[in-house]
Amino acid sequence: MDRILSDPPPAESFPPIEVGPKDLSGYRFGNVGIDYVHRFTAAEPGPHLLLVGLMHGNEFCGMTALTALLEAGAAPTRGTWTVAFANVAAYERFDPAHPSLSRFVDHDLNRVWSPDVLDADASSVEIERARALRPAVEAADHILDLHSTILSFEPFWVIPHRGAPRALARTLPVPGTRVVMRPEGLQGTPLIAYGRFGDRQGDSTGLVAECGQHWAEDCQTVALACLIDYLRVFDTIDRDLAAALRPADPPAGPEREMEATVDYVARTADFRYARPWRGFDPVSKGTVLAYDGAEPVTCPHDDGFVVFSRPHPKPGGEAMTLAQLVTEPQA
Ligand SMILES: [Zn+2]
Repeated sequence: MDRILSDPPPAESFPPIEVGPKDLSGYRFGNVGIDYVHRFTAAEPGPHLLLVGLMHGNEFCGMTALTALLEAGAAPTRGTWTVAFANVAAYERFDPAHPSLSRFVDHDLNRVWSPDVLDADASSVEIERARALRPAVEAADHILDLHSTILSFEPFWVIPHRGAPRALARTLPVPGTRVVMRPEGLQGTPLIAYGRFGDRQGDSTGLVAECGQHWAEDCQTVALACLIDYLRVFDTIDRDLAAALRPADPPAGPEREMEATVDYVARTADFRYARPWRGFDPVSKGTVLAYDGAEPVTCPHDDGFVVFSRPHPKPGGEAMTLAQLVTEPQA
């Protein structure tokens, strides 16, 4: 999710850094001609899974889960795994004194995934990296993109649409909460909505797992469980190895599904929340969420949740996302 902090709070206002970065230089040279990308193909045919960590440079859980897989010498029993460390340039800038600042170098790598951006003339660290990664993305059938959050939210899936990715997420127990997003509500296109991954009629899937707070031990546990479950669902990992690698009791959070309903963009410089929202706060129709200038911003429906809120949004910036609980029987 997009959580650019326009006014980064001081380091002491963040949760403690229980897990820090480690040296990834040994993973730089892969086998597909793209730095920090490694491909493993089994003799038996099967799905091509793209496993992504570090889309945001200070979100370590994808890095810890994927390096655990690589360090175990794991390889697919069928099909292909492509392991990609996405924004290593940002990751290498991590500074514990300013831990929110290495999310990206120039701008969010997870908002550039459209031909409009990738085929245009504009250049930046992130656009060039996306161009380099593009062949790996286009070769894949399915994408698992491992993320985390700046605040200690319940872990949750982000599902780009109601087609195949939603059905896949329903088969995965960790995280427990699933949120179907509104790509049209975001300021740019995330990887999981790129090309055919955004096609509601197609078989390709892209999922984001938001695994918990960036630097918490629990977050790394959720990410590793999520990764191993994902490889198991596609029947591409040795069962004994999967059992050995998967954490026993990851803190998955409650099992529930919701659909994003509102991506609220601040209109004025005098935008302020009615109270601090900590993530997945339940709200009802008419609950005052914030004040935008003199106008109260209210929840338009019952069974609502403030999925996340961004501190100090500027006019025209994404402020908060609301979702509504799905109460239909779940197939
Ligand atoms: Zn992220």
